[in-house]
Amino acid sequence: MNETRYKPAEVGPSDDGARLRIAWQDGHESLYDPRKLRLACPCAGCVDEMTGEAILVPSMVPDGIHPHSIQYVGRYALQFVWSDGHSTGIFPFEYLRKLCGCAECGEPSP
Ligand SMILES: [Zn+2]
Ligand SMILES: [Zn+2]
Repeated sequence: MNETRYKPAEVGPSDDGARLRIAWQDGHESLYDPRKLRLACPCAGCVDEMTGEAILVPSMVPDGIHPHSIQYVGRYALQFVWSDGHSTGIFPFEYLRKLCGCAECGEPSP
């Protein structure tokens, strides 16, 4: 297994500032729509831990939502503080990589 695939080299806003950009150590680059990322929040407040079903109601997440800050959690994940105040979601790198919707990776399954 290629470990560099799941390690970000750089995390920050895209050039146009509208999206989140992650450059991975294997050379791949992912661009995320912040709202899609917020909707994919895997925390216990957004997804039922027992059933895996989404609790989060998409209509509750405003357009134009964006991360206020991004922090590394250990060596395995990123934690976002969102402009709606939500901050409990921890996104493991592997999960983020799977959410990459570029042409090469294909649209992530809903
Ligand atoms: Zn959440
Ligand atoms: Zn990709």
